Amino acid sequence: MKSDRFETWLSADGRGLYCRPGGFHIDPSGAVERAIITHGHSDHARSGHDYVLATKETLGVMELRLGSAARRGTQALAYGETLKIGDVSVKLVPAGHVLGSAQVVIDYKGARAVISGDYKRASDPTCAPFELVPCDLFVTEATFALPVFRHGNAKDEIAKLLKSRSLFPERTHVVGAYGLGKSQRVIKLLRDAGYERPIYLHGALAGCCALYETFGVKLGELKPATDAKCNKLPGEIVLAPPSAISDRWSRRFADPLTAFASGWMRVRARGRQQGVELPLVISDHADWDELTAAIEEPGAAEIWVTHGREDALLYHIESTGRRGRALALIGREDEDQ
Ligand SMILES: [Zn+2]
Ligand SMILES: [Zn+2]
Repeated sequence: MKSDRFETWLSADGRGLYCRPGGFHIDPSGAVERAIITHGHSDHARSGHDYVLATKETLGVMELRLGSAARRGTQALAYGETLKIGDVSVKLVPAGHVLGSAQVVIDYKGARAVISGDYKRASDPTCAPFELVPCDLFVTEATFALPVFRHGNAKDEIAKLLKSRSLFPERTHVVGAYGLGKSQRVIKLLRDAGYERPIYLHGALAGCCALYETFGVKLGELKPATDAKCNKLPGEIVLAPPSAISDRWSRRFADPLTAFASGWMRVRARGRQQGVELPLVISDHADWDELTAAIEEPGAAEIWVTHGREDALLYHIESTGRRGRALALIGREDEDQ
């Protein structure tokens, strides 16, 4: 196989990955004519494109967060449905990252590239599970690409939260959770663990929770955390964006105990720095074991790495006899940061 086989039709330009024969970008960092968007996080879904193709859930998130998903038109593609664009065929398959998140499968002249977007393989009751697609080129993220990152089971972390609540029944547990994906996953995991009390939300989280509900993800009773009665909510669980947990906002509650649900909580110092009393290691990104499995299992001879901690992953890729390449796409960062 020629080593530049993919570079002739799929390449990184100033705005991200571009498929030349299809005439579209994938998750571009600036406005383009045609974009395929893998999921609704702000480092992937930006405004100003003329035409956007995505799952209907991702289009819904873009409408909610950006006002409109595209200036001239949108097209929803269901998981598994194939779209022909000239000589290229495009398919979206679940990435297991957040509601509607998709890997983009591109077939062109007998070769197949899979662009994962952000993904995880751990179970998540709020979105369709990651689907393994055999391919020749796999494009991966590398947010947690160091062997130290092993996320463990999110259910165990939820058990810690519930245990803390029973140990400190007078305190309000204020849980920092990113608005799209993480907060709904935390809520759903709490429900699955048998927690039936209302869960209180910072205003910034309400929109995404309501959107999940419209797509059939049942989250139980949710209430605004702040109301005219200035209820201090002792013993209750409050969810807020990470930026609000150590802020004046959370001081209104009863002796608030701050928790933070993030893959970064594996690094203890990070939690302490942010004043987090109860770190919860819950991540929507692949950890080291999931990344290495995702690299080996599709059978791809070539792996490109979009963003994150590339060095260790590239070393690992080369050690398995595959060709690795760092794309170092600009404008990408983890949503928890
Ligand atoms: Zn993401
Ligand atoms: Zn991302």
